[in-house]
Amino acid sequence: MKDRIRLQFLGAAGYVTGSRSLIEYNNTRVYVDCGMYQGPRYIEEKNYHPLETAPETLDAVILTHAHIDHSGLLPLLVKKGFQGKIYCTPATAELLQVLLPDAGRIQEEEFKFLSKKKIRDFELDGPLFNEDDAKKVFEFIVPIDFKTAGKIKDIEFTFYWAGHILGAAGVQVKAGEKTINFSGDIGPINSILHREREIPPPADFLVMESTYGKRKHENENIDKKFQKAVKSVIQRKSMLIIPAFAVGRTQLVLYVIYRLMRSGKIPELPVFIDSPMAAKATRIYMQYPEELQKNVVDEGFLEFLHSRQIKLIEAVEESKQLNYYNGPGILISASGMCHGGRIMHHLFNRMWDRRNFLLFAGYQAEGTLGRQILEGASRVKIFRREIPVRCSIDTINSFSAHADKVGLVKYAETYKASPPKILFINHGEDDSRDELKKQIRLGKDTRIELPKSEEVYYL
Ligand SMILES: [Zn+2]
Repeated sequence: MKDRIRLQFLGAAGYVTGSRSLIEYNNTRVYVDCGMYQGPRYIEEKNYHPLETAPETLDAVILTHAHIDHSGLLPLLVKKGFQGKIYCTPATAELLQVLLPDAGRIQEEEFKFLSKKKIRDFELDGPLFNEDDAKKVFEFIVPIDFKTAGKIKDIEFTFYWAGHILGAAGVQVKAGEKTINFSGDIGPINSILHREREIPPPADFLVMESTYGKRKHENENIDKKFQKAVKSVIQRKSMLIIPAFAVGRTQLVLYVIYRLMRSGKIPELPVFIDSPMAAKATRIYMQYPEELQKNVVDEGFLEFLHSRQIKLIEAVEESKQLNYYNGPGILISASGMCHGGRIMHHLFNRMWDRRNFLLFAGYQAEGTLGRQILEGASRVKIFRREIPVRCSIDTINSFSAHADKVGLVKYAETYKASPPKILFINHGEDDSRDELKKQIRLGKDTRIELPKSEEVYYL
């Protein structure tokens, strides 16, 4: 099998999480991403399945970005004996320092919860990994700049901007004379905050994501929704509460607020970021202007983040002080789906008061408190207490770090002039993949495959 590439799809084949692929070429064995399965319990159970590859036999992991569904099993890999290197872009390396320990803490809590409830039908002797395991990953990380070739024995690779979150990349892997492009998570067309995605050079094979292969992003007037919410809290001298993911979404919301203040569409108000993770992530964003849209930097957004108007809150005491602040002001906190994190305290303290305004800035999954509120619950349970929902509520549906169906088709079709031999549609549910397969037109020289979990291709 010399000079043939063995490509195996291990995770995210038919799912939107758990991204992991194995490339073997001559004596080189590399994972592209090593993500955790997230979502309903039957999906998360997959994290507990034994790894198909003996970790000590891997030479490296090439990591496209820091999101846990791409990076979250790295601590497990290291715990089980991985001795290679983990290559990623510099911003991804920094974000991992924030995200992985947090994932470790969540695993510890979840283990406590599950052992108490005896939910699983198999015995667990401990959490999948803990915070210390997560921190051990750092010594294996080797940051590599975008557009700079890296080498792992017989394999070369180069990162290209993906326009998804800070540090996010697509990667071209070269093995002998053949090339495979992995799209990573693909950012939207007309990205607001992050630098526009770029298409890597043509390749023999293309593996692309399909998360939103069936969805079309909504067209809505974001500015108007913010203006309405801000006007309301100024009139009522109250707080605008925005639940947002700590990495990516918080910074996008901050930029939109800044743009509106700068153009005079909303007055200047204090903005509180009450989440240690979001505060850390925002500081990392400040260090990478080249990864943001040029106009964002030119307009002075980074100076705004440094200004006294923005209060990055990490200490618990400071967070508690916020309860005594009447407003008007804007409070951004995590988690984005109101499923834990400091946002719970703010909802507990403020949702009953009809003067406040709750503005959702992203998707609320089934089973989350966010979804309950959005669906119009008049009372919800927080910290074992019933809280009446009386504040004003609105939601922004069009923020997305992902390309929608139109964006994904466009991404694939930019390869038309020099199409790949095989297009693998991965990292998406089957109906999304089927839809994309129907829509993408690359000509008769390209075969389109929808790989199944553990399926192997010799290229
Ligand atoms: Zn992602």
